Amino acid sequence: MRKVLVTGGAGFIGSNYIYYIFNKYHGDIQVINIDKLTYAGNLDNLRKLDSQYIDNKNYVFEKVDICDEQAIKRIFETYKPEYVVNFAAESHVDRSISDPQLFLKTNILGTQILLNASLQFGVTRFHQVSTDEVYGSLGAAGLFTEQTPLDPRSPYSASKASADMICKAYYDTYKLPVTISRCSNNYGAYQFPEKLIPLMINNILTNKLLPIYGDGKQVRDWLHVVDHCEAIEQIIMRGKPGEIYNIGGNNESTNIAIVKLLIDSISEILSSDDLRKQHVSYNLITHIEDRKGHDRRYAIDASKMRRDFGWEPSIKFQDGIKDTIVWYLNNADWLENIITGDYQLYYDKFYAGK
Ligand code: NAD
Repeated sequence: MRKVLVTGGAGFIGSNYIYYIFNKYHGDIQVINIDKLTYAGNLDNLRKLDSQYIDNKNYVFEKVDICDEQAIKRIFETYKPEYVVNFAAESHVDRSISDPQLFLKTNILGTQILLNASLQFGVTRFHQVSTDEVYGSLGAAGLFTEQTPLDPRSPYSASKASADMICKAYYDTYKLPVTISRCSNNYGAYQFPEKLIPLMINNILTNKLLPIYGDGKQVRDWLHVVDHCEAIEQIIMRGKPGEIYNIGGNNESTNIAIVKLLIDSISEILSSDDLRKQHVSYNLITHIEDRKGHDRRYAIDASKMRRDFGWEPSIKFQDGIKDTIVWYLNNADWLENIITGDYQLYYDKFYAGK
């Protein structure tokens, strides 16, 4: 049975990845999910996990900070993972602007602690989940390739670029079998509502203003989270140690176009007797002061993924967006728990004395 240590598995992409690998391998894997459960970590994300996996110890959760060297050593001693997939990170650019140091600790030091334990205990693969933001900002033309020089411009992207470098150093120096993936913006179920798409969906449904940074013409490439999980799995199983792989949706859009698409799609999805439909309008859009150092455009050349593994995004953006909206409509309690802080109360109660 394959033993996989997933870090940050209570976050957005990590929890989707855990569902993804159980769907793929069923009871043939053991997943050890470690997560510090910051504001972004939510065990409720995994509430739909088949109880059979939990009963049979195919799935284990431990609340652990990746910066805690002793705790990480204990995890490796106890579970002896063969694969490590590092999702754990402080992930929100705005928060990195107000508290950079936390990003450096978790994203750089935490990664180095995991790399060290992986080396000490001899893992088969260490996979680092990185971002296209390490490449900096593009002009109107061109794409990021794996050869594009790193040029991170926010404390978040600088910390992720540093983590990539330390991963590469563990491969070059110690021959630790490391792979790195750099993906564009993800969307889908279980995304924390501070990020553009769930924030806007929630605000549209609750008749709140839709704050857009600056002119809203910043360009991002969007990929459904399940396509990202599939790409990560291809790299882990078939990728070469020491290699970097760009992952993207070939799907560029401005932020303002995304918000308009969400307004149109929500208006289409809500039934005519739903009172919320009355308020859904472009009038909610409000332009606010731009983010400091806001990168203008990201775009990914993912041809290496296609060439090496035949990987391509399988979910069309229009369909993925509709499914995502429907998911947020059907999981209003999930959103409500986060927004009202009920989740925190639930967590404190659940973990009291553990
Ligand atoms: P997220 O913020 O939703 O989840 C991060 C998870 O890490 C949370 O569960 C949090 O509790 C956990 N965590 C934070 N600090 C920790 C620590 N010190 N120890 C243990 N756990 C800790 O983020 P996400 O959007 O799921 O992103 C996951 C990874 O993917 C990150 O490394 C991010 O840089 C990368 N990434 C994200 C995107 C995107 O669009 N969301 C795109 C490309 C790459």
